[in-house]
Order: sequence, then C-alpha cells, then structure tokens
Amino acid sequence: MTTQHSPATGDMYRCEKCEMEIHVTRGCKCEEGCASFQCCGQAMKNITEPAVQNP
Ligand SMILES: [Zn+2]
Repeated sequence: MTTQHSPATGDMYRCEKCEMEIHVTRGCKCEEGCASFQCCGQAMKNITEPAVQNP
C-alpha cells in the first residue's frame, strides 16, 4: 500500500496504459480526500522525478 501524498506543484502523473500525463501547476493543501487522478479505469501513477539540480 503506497501512501499518496497530496499533489504538489510540479508533480507529474501518468496513465500507465495510454501514457496520458498530468502536470500539476498548483499544489493541493488538503489533508484527506484530495484529488485522485484516474485514467483508463485505474489510478494514475505519480511519476514526479526527484528535483534535478541543473548545473
Ligand atoms: Zn489512460
């Protein structure tokens, strides 16, 4: 069971079936019952990459 944190600014979600992606441009601050993204009948995966520090 993965604990999903609230969508934060910059988070990316992807549907593993059709590869549709959502880019969160403003985060969510609620504690429960937050937005849950679904596509193709399943939960979208948070694919946010760790912050990359560009040189
Ligand atoms: Zn999909």
